[in-house]
Amino acid sequence: MIIDTLQRPLRDLRVSVTDRCNMRCRYCMPKEVFGPGFRFLPRRELLSFEEITRIVGAFARVGVRKVRLTGGEPLLRAELPRLVGMLAAVPGIEDLALTTNGSLLRALAKPLREAGLRRITVSLDTLDRDRFRAITDSAVSLTEVLAGIDAAVEAGFAPIKLNTVVRRGMNDDEIELLADFARRRGHILRFIEYMDVGNSNGWQASDVVPAEEIVRRIMARWPIEPLAPNYPGEVANRFRYRDGAGEFGVIASVTAPFCRGCSRARLSAVGELYTCLFAAKGHDLRSIVRCDVDEATIDSALEETIERIWRRRSDRYSELRARQARKPHVVEMSYIGG
Ligand code: SAM
Ligand code: SF4
Ligand code: SF4
Repeated sequence: MIIDTLQRPLRDLRVSVTDRCNMRCRYCMPKEVFGPGFRFLPRRELLSFEEITRIVGAFARVGVRKVRLTGGEPLLRAELPRLVGMLAAVPGIEDLALTTNGSLLRALAKPLREAGLRRITVSLDTLDRDRFRAITDSAVSLTEVLAGIDAAVEAGFAPIKLNTVVRRGMNDDEIELLADFARRRGHILRFIEYMDVGNSNGWQASDVVPAEEIVRRIMARWPIEPLAPNYPGEVANRFRYRDGAGEFGVIASVTAPFCRGCSRARLSAVGELYTCLFAAKGHDLRSIVRCDVDEATIDSALEETIERIWRRRSDRYSELRARQARKPHVVEMSYIGG
């Protein structure tokens, strides 16, 4: 196990497989910035599945146990089930999950399950068709996403996790409605505080609906009680419904930052290691994996580099957020996957 300067182990890796997306959620990839003129990563720059698997293998050998595939929209990456199959076979990886906007799940849930994926999180901010179009600013319909969620249940992924970003004036009037939807269907809902990720979403502190307010509203409707974390460093505060209808959680990244327990690294689609969601830049691992030397040499160079970078890590952006006069330029969320 390796630990950083704040005694945090490296346990968890998010792998972005593409920076592209078929939605333009206003809080993540606003069209004014990610419009037709935006230059996404050229396909030849992306890591191949073999390269991703090699890098994930090195992360596993230095202590990573959980891998989550993300993007952009990860299901846009061609042949994703093949990558899932390769990663499911990496020794040491105990938990392989995926976060998706759900739009392509109808066709892909079954092949992903058969390839060895065990858990799926679907992002869902509203149950209103018109509002869905306004938030995601794309041609994708809510019907398609709901059908994707059903397909995932059918393929054996239940319980599905749902991620809801709550933004004041955008969907905060739907908190109870979304909770009720998740309760009735047996999904686990996570309310996420709207964050100042990237440089383009025009975030303002007044847009944030504090997790505490969300919990108060749910509590006013259903009896709930807090649950202990599933594991050390879990980012969601969890609650169970006392009537037995499952659980929900809140992720208070803004009002109660959890940097102290942050054991998460991120790998961009072109093979850069980011040690924080708010890092300005990543560390290149692709040039190592593409070195013209034998595989054992590549593997040990990857392990040494990851270890060296993690041991030096001191990131805690969310804890320092309030003290910063001006936000530094940081990587975009759609580039490293949240
Ligand atoms: N496209 C996939 C999806 O939407 O699930 C995966 C990538 S997306 C960047 C990962 C998660 O980040 C989503 O659940 C999304 O809602 C969340 N997210 C994006 N922008 C955010 C923001 N400004 N604040 C909080 N969460 C955000
Ligand atoms: Fe795409 Fe996900 Fe960002 Fe929405 S949150 S724009 S679906 S990457
Ligand atoms: Fe981890 Fe950085 Fe988020 Fe803090 S701000 S929890 S260090 S990713």
